[in-house]
Amino acid sequence: MTYRADTARYDTMQYRRSGHSGLKLPVISLGLWQNFGGTRDYPSAMEILGYAFDQGITHFDLANNYGPPAGSAEELFGTVLARDFRPYRDEMIISTKAGYNMWPGPYGEWGSRKSLLASLDQSLKRMGLDYVDIFYSHRFDPDTPLEETMGALAHAVKSGKALYVGISSYPEKETREAHRILKQMGVATTIHQPSYSMINRWIENDKTIDACGELGIGVIAFSPLAQGVLSGKYNSGNLAGTRGENPNGSLRASQIEPRVLDAVNKVGEIARARGQSMVQLALSWVLRRKEMTSALIGVRNLDQLKDNLGVLNSLDLSADEIAAINEATKG
Ligand code: NDP
Repeated sequence: MTYRADTARYDTMQYRRSGHSGLKLPVISLGLWQNFGGTRDYPSAMEILGYAFDQGITHFDLANNYGPPAGSAEELFGTVLARDFRPYRDEMIISTKAGYNMWPGPYGEWGSRKSLLASLDQSLKRMGLDYVDIFYSHRFDPDTPLEETMGALAHAVKSGKALYVGISSYPEKETREAHRILKQMGVATTIHQPSYSMINRWIENDKTIDACGELGIGVIAFSPLAQGVLSGKYNSGNLAGTRGENPNGSLRASQIEPRVLDAVNKVGEIARARGQSMVQLALSWVLRRKEMTSALIGVRNLDQLKDNLGVLNSLDLSADEIAAINEATKG
């Protein structure tokens, strides 16, 4: 049966403007990094994506290399658009990125004009789209002049293949530079996508988040649950059915070492005192910053998505709670 979106889909979600732009994003956005690849069957993917949209999640985040295998998440999302989401295209913000390894040879990764624009064309084809809403440089390329990388982003906007552009994981200095160069080209840096969570505060430490606030760049935090560590499930020691199960996967041993799990235990106590699940507390914490436009989550199943969306019932944190979280995670 063809999907019909819930008429109440905008009743509970909250939306925030991305920096100084006119673009509003839901406070919870959904990424298709690891859970929507080649082995995901269509009905279970659609169950999650349809529920997300029914709850006001208008923003779906992709990249050329999401899968596995690389490209398969965009292909799956293209099928979802063709079969079920097409009537709602104008209600959606679809993003993609280029910068990580995608195809063999010198043009399949990093930040050259050749690589970025070829990749964008491939992404549009895989998703069956004329344009994406946001196109990102996925990582700063130290070997390509930033003028060239930003020139490719500006071209994407000027050619109508992207409505907005962003940068991902750029440190503070490069963020300021990217913004300056794009501005000269008449293009806004609408959004920055860094990793950020209670236990990964690099954007606070190197002041990237302050630079974004000052320059009017919105921020969307990826891995706000530290890839699931902030659900507390790794404290049980049972890795079955989790991302941590794969020893060669993206969750490294250092991310679940005893020091981290000890902090997670303490955060769990604070969540319990608030009557919230740990993931909900982790998301409230990321969203407490005024610079933060959205928390970009990943989910393996519908139950996880429902749990995470519960954050909307209690977003506010007191100064005492924030201090207690700082104390718990300072190690
Ligand atoms: P999260 O920190 O939200 O981690 C998602 C994982 O956490 C899920 O796959 C699941 O793990 C676990 N999880 C989620 N909810 C729950 C829950 N309620 N209870 C228990 N476990 C839960 O984010 P991701 O690391 O997945 O990143 C989110 C998105 O950010 C990506 O899809 C992508 O769009 C973007 N991203 C961008 C990057 C970049 O370089 N720009 C890099 C990485 C991500 P499990 O599978 O073990 O069940």
